[in-house]
Amino acid sequence: MATPVLSSPHAVPTSSAASSDARDDPAALLVELCRHFYGLGWVSGTGGGMSVRSRGRIYVAPSGVQKERIQRADIFELDEEGRTLVAPPGGLRISACLPLFMRAYRMRGAGAVLHSHSIHAMMATLAFEREFRVTHCEMIKGITGMGYRDELVVPIIENTDHECDLADSLAEAIAAYPKAFAVLVRRHGVYVWGPDWVSAKTHAECYHYLFEAVLRARSLGVDLTVAPSVPPGVAPRAHSV
Ligand code: ZN
Repeated sequence: MATPVLSSPHAVPTSSAASSDARDDPAALLVELCRHFYGLGWVSGTGGGMSVRSRGRIYVAPSGVQKERIQRADIFELDEEGRTLVAPPGGLRISACLPLFMRAYRMRGAGAVLHSHSIHAMMATLAFEREFRVTHCEMIKGITGMGYRDELVVPIIENTDHECDLADSLAEAIAAYPKAFAVLVRRHGVYVWGPDWVSAKTHAECYHYLFEAVLRARSLGVDLTVAPSVPPGVAPRAHSV
């Protein structure tokens, strides 16, 4: 098994090191990422999911298994068309997120896709109608191609009774928002991807931060969807005559 890459908070992998680890054993990496994301509250209650693509293979976690308890032997291995090559023993079912993961792989050339049931992602869909928006926030820079002063937009699609039925509306949102690396699902969560697993993880961390930041700023009466009129923390000066 490959050396766990996230075991130490100080051993932050570089892109080249991460690629090497993922190439060595993507299934083990996926197990580790699931545990990490469980710790962040993104995949609790067996909800959410994760998939990694490496060297022409797609690795997917099973459905209905607590994410922090998934073992390497529980991981499905697929070809790039989504056909199962290796299924785990014990009759485990593959994640219901697979049709949605495949949209991000095919339409965006993603190297990894995360589906999060984070409370902040879910709450963000209650605060906006069709698009989540934020600007002038440092963490926007963590999203590929975006800068501090840019307006970050994430489309919101409506939830369905079954996860697989989200695939078409997710595909429509992916096509309509070429700068986005995420799609929110109303009262549900968010799908996030990147060209490799490191980027997908970075994107997910930044998006989740921004979802929470916008909601918490609102409680302070600060609207992070518009540019600040004065520098934060600087009170407007009273004019003397
Ligand atoms: Zn879900």
